[in-house]
Amino acid sequence: MQIRYATNLSAEQYVQQQGWQAATLSHCPLHPLGGCRFCKNGNYSRKLPDGAKIARWYCADGHMSFSLLPDCLASRLSGSLIEVEDVLTEIENSPSQEAAADNIRIDIMLPGALRWLRRRIFLVKASLSMLIKLLPGLFADCNPSILSFRSVLNVDYVLPELRQVAGSYLPVLPPPLGFGPLPEAKKSKKSCRQHSTGTDPPSIRC
Ligand SMILES: [Zn+2]
Repeated sequence: MQIRYATNLSAEQYVQQQGWQAATLSHCPLHPLGGCRFCKNGNYSRKLPDGAKIARWYCADGHMSFSLLPDCLASRLSGSLIEVEDVLTEIENSPSQEAAADNIRIDIMLPGALRWLRRRIFLVKASLSMLIKLLPGLFADCNPSILSFRSVLNVDYVLPELRQVAGSYLPVLPPPLGFGPLPEAKKSKKSCRQHSTGTDPPSIRC
């Protein structure tokens, strides 16, 4: 299970300062009254950003591990939330997804680049759509786009801000913003869910 680690550190600062060392989990989320075998369970490494680790705890009675994901890092996608948001912003400012793909993923062929882009669009829009319903007082006039949310929140980057603003909903919001399940794809098979390039960490159960 992933748990929010509230921090203002950027991804670079998190790595430089070894932010995972300061992450603490005072009690077992499954057994808040204590009495279970709850202990620190080391750190695990993420592929990206290079050098990043995530602090982890384990409850032997609940057979569950808990990892503290800092606000700067994407859930179940490599890299930072800012990197994810930069991709979405580029897409929203581009005349087409193909044009955005040509700018963002010059290292791979267009079909692969489009799959990579659409996975991010699908996941982020799913979260934003849910938040419009969950927090109508804030987002009722928004459409599920980064630019729309940015204008309401008045911040440079929406996704790290939403970790705080929508903190209580993170368990139900899909990654890379939230820690909940992947949203249902419209198409049953061959959905973008199955193309999990770059997803990490593989060892975590959530
Ligand atoms: Zn426990």
